Amino acid sequence: ASVPLADIGVTGLAVMGSNLARNFARNGFVTAVHNRSYAKTKALIDEHGGDGVFVPSESAADFVASLAKPRKILIMVKAGEPTDAVIEELAALVEPDDIIIDGGNAKFADTRRRQAALAERGIHFVGCGVSGGEEGALNGPSIMPGGSAKSYESLGPILERISAHVDGAPCCTHIGTDGAGHFVKMVHNGIEYADMQLIAEAYDLLRRGAGLSPARIGQIFGEWNKGDLDSFLIEITAQVLSQVDAETGAPFVDVVVDAAGMKGTGTWTVQTALDLGIPVSGIAEAVFARGLSSAAAHRAAAAGVLPGPDGTWPIADVDAFVEDVRIALYASKIVAYAQGLDEIFAGAAEYGWDINVGAVARIWRGGCIIRAKFLNRITEAYDVSTGIELPASLLLAPYFTDAIANAQDSWRRVVAGAATAGLPTPGFAAALSYYDGLRSERLPAALIQGQRDFFGAHTYQRVDKPGTFHTLWSGDR
Ligand code: NAP
Repeated sequence: ASVPLADIGVTGLAVMGSNLARNFARNGFVTAVHNRSYAKTKALIDEHGGDGVFVPSESAADFVASLAKPRKILIMVKAGEPTDAVIEELAALVEPDDIIIDGGNAKFADTRRRQAALAERGIHFVGCGVSGGEEGALNGPSIMPGGSAKSYESLGPILERISAHVDGAPCCTHIGTDGAGHFVKMVHNGIEYADMQLIAEAYDLLRRGAGLSPARIGQIFGEWNKGDLDSFLIEITAQVLSQVDAETGAPFVDVVVDAAGMKGTGTWTVQTALDLGIPVSGIAEAVFARGLSSAAAHRAAAAGVLPGPDGTWPIADVDAFVEDVRIALYASKIVAYAQGLDEIFAGAAEYGWDINVGAVARIWRGGCIIRAKFLNRITEAYDVSTGIELPASLLLAPYFTDAIANAQDSWRRVVAGAATAGLPTPGFAAALSYYDGLRSERLPAALIQGQRDFFGAHTYQRVDKPGTFHTLWSGDR
C-alpha cells in the first residue's frame, strides 16, 4: 500500500519531539518523523508505532519529501547552534510557502533573526513556545506559536488539536508575528520562577516560622489547592512535601541539597525586562534567590557568623497565621503575574506585535506549568466589556484590586513579621514594595532627580510649569 503524504513532520526525537510526534499521530495526523541519528526514530516506531500513522525517514531529504505541501516541519532539537544547523539543512530542501517551526526554547531575538532570514527565501518560520514538559507534549501542551498569520491558517488547526483543552477551548492561539511566541513563552517561564519562589517562601514561613512539619504543610497546600490558589504548582507542592525519602524515612525535602538549578529562561525574562525598562521585581527576586541558594561557599562562610534573629516567630494562633500566609501568597502572586504581563505589553509595543493578553492567559489555563484557575480571572480582566483600559496594570482590574484590598492586612503582617523574625521573603516583600510604589502619588524619585542634576547636570522637570531645568548648585564642588 502506498504511504500517504504526511500532515506534519517532527525532527529531533528526544523526549519532547517523540512525545509531540506521538500526540500528532494519536490525533489522527499522518506524522513524518526524523532524527539526526536513526536510532531514536527506530525506537519511536518500535515502541509506539501503534499510536497512529508514522512515516519514518533516515535522511532529511526523504523526510522532507514525505510531507504534503505546504510542508509543516516541527524542529525539536537542542536550542542554539543545533537549531540553526537543522534550519539550514531543512531550508535547502523545502520550497517557498513551506513552514518550518522551532518548538525548542529559543531566545526570541534568535527567532526574529531566523524568521527574517527565511522570509527572504519565501519560507515561513514559526517560533513556537511549547510548555508542559514531556507529559504535556504527549497529552496536550500549552502552545504559543508566533510567525506569520498566513502560516497559522494551515498550521494553527493542527496545533490547536494536539494542545491541552480547558472548557472545550484549545490552549493554543496565534500569539503574534515573528518572535512573539517565544517571547511569551519566555515570560511564562519567568512567571513560573516567581510562582515557585513565592510557594517556597510560604513553605519556609510555615516550616521555620510556625514550626509545622513538611507532611502537615503538604496537607495545608492540599487544602489551599481547593481555593483561589488552585493550580498545578500548588498541587505538586503538596505532593513533594508529603514525599518521604525511601532510604532514610526522612521528609524528602530534608534530604535534598537546598541549591536551586536553572536553565536560563528566568534570567532571559529579567534581562529582557531590564532592556525594556519594565520592573519585574518578583521574577528578578526569584532568579536572584536561586542564585543565592547556589552560592554554597558564600552561604557556608556566613551561616552562624552573621548575627540576626533565628527565624522563631511568636505565633499565638497557628490557624490564623496559616491563613495570613495563604493570603500573602495570593497577593504576591497577583503582583508577579501583573509584572510579567506588563513585560508582554512592553515587548508587544517594542516589536510591533498585536498580542491579546487575555487570550494568552486563556491558553495558559491548561497544559503548562503555571496552569491555574485564577487565569480565568486574568482573561476576564482583559475582556473588552468588563475589563481595564490597556495596557494598565492587571492590578487595576476590579477583581484584582478587590483581591489585593482584602489581602492588605495579612500581607503586611506576614512581610513585617518575617523581617522581624529574620526569615527571608524576597518575593513577598518585593511584591508588596512594588504595590506600594505603584500606588504612591509621589515617590522619592524627585530627590534622585535632584542628585542627578547636582552631580551631572542631568536636568529635571518641575511640577508647576513645563520645561527642562538645571539648578546652579552652590557648595564645595
Ligand atoms: P534535547 O536534549 O534538548 O535535544 C536532543 C535532540 O537534539 C536529539 O534529538 C538530538 O539528536 C538533537 N540534536 C542535538 N544537536 C543536534 C544537531 N547539531 N543537529 C541535529 N540534531 C541535533 O531534547 P529535549 O529535552 O526533547 O528538548 C528539545 C527542545 O525542546 C529543546 O530546545 C528544549 O529546550 C525544548 N523544551 C524542552 C522541554 C522539556 O521539558 N524538556 C519543554 C519545553 C521545551 P541525536 O539523537 O542525533 O543526538
